[in-house]
Amino acid sequence: MNETLQNKIIIRAINLTKDYQTESQTVRAVNNVNLEVKSGEFITFVGRSGSGKTTLLNLISGLDYPTEGQILFDGDNLDKLNQKEIISIRRKKIGIIFQSFSLLPLLSAYENVELPLRISGIKSTTRKKMTNKAIETVGLSHRSRHRPYELSGGEQQRIAIARAIVNEPNLILADEPTGELDSVNAEKIFSSFKKMVKDKGITILATTHDRTLLNLSDRVIEISDGKLV
Ligand code: ADP
Ligand code: MG
Repeated sequence: MNETLQNKIIIRAINLTKDYQTESQTVRAVNNVNLEVKSGEFITFVGRSGSGKTTLLNLISGLDYPTEGQILFDGDNLDKLNQKEIISIRRKKIGIIFQSFSLLPLLSAYENVELPLRISGIKSTTRKKMTNKAIETVGLSHRSRHRPYELSGGEQQRIAIARAIVNEPNLILADEPTGELDSVNAEKIFSSFKKMVKDKGITILATTHDRTLLNLSDRVIEISDGKLV
C-alpha cells in the first residue's frame, strides 16, 4: 500500500454523543467521542459490558443516528445522507460481523457468503469467483456445502467473516466477534483480522471484553461509560 493511502483518514467522529431515552431516564451510551481512524488500521475497543461499544460501532456504520456530533466516512457526512444513501455506502464499503454469527440456517455456508452479492445484483460468474475467494480467505473451502449447524462455532464465525469481506469492503466492523468462541478460536479470528489488514489494507474496528486479544491489533482504545479513555 502506498504512503498516501495508508495515512488517509477513513473515519472521523466529531463530538459524537448518543442518548437513549428510557421511561425513567436518559442513558448517555456514547459521550462526546472524538476519533480519527486511518485507512489500514486495526483498532480494538475494549470495555466492560454496557460501556458503549456496540452503540459506537452502530453509529459508525450508520445503523444508528447520533444525538449530537457527526461521523465523516470517507469524507461523507453520514448526517447529511438519507437512509438509502447510507445503505448504499454500507453495502459497498462496510462489512459487518456480529457477535452471534447471524448466518441463515437453511442456506449452505457458500450461499450465506454469496447472499450480499445477490442483494447487490452482481452477476453469477463474478459472484462465484468472489464467493469462493472469500471462503478460501477464511480457510473453509472444504466446508462450503455445509449448513451452519454442521459447522463448529469457530467455523460459523469464519463463514460470517467471509460474508463480511465478500464485497471487498474497505472497512470491517466486528462487534465482539469472538464473544461466543473459546480462546483458541478467538485468537484465530483476531489473527486473521491482523492478516487481512496487512495483506489487503482493510481497516478493521473490533470490540472485545477479552484482554488477551489486545496485543494483536495496532491500537487499543479503552471505552468506559461511553467515553474513550
Ligand atoms: P456494550 O456494547 O459496551 O455492552 P452498549 O453500547 O450496548 O454497550 O450500551 C451502552 C449503554 O447504553 C448501556 O447502558 C445500555 O444499557 C444502553 N443502551 C444501549 N442500547 C439501548 C437502547 N436501545 N435503549 C436504551 N438504552 C440502551
Ligand atoms: Mg455490545
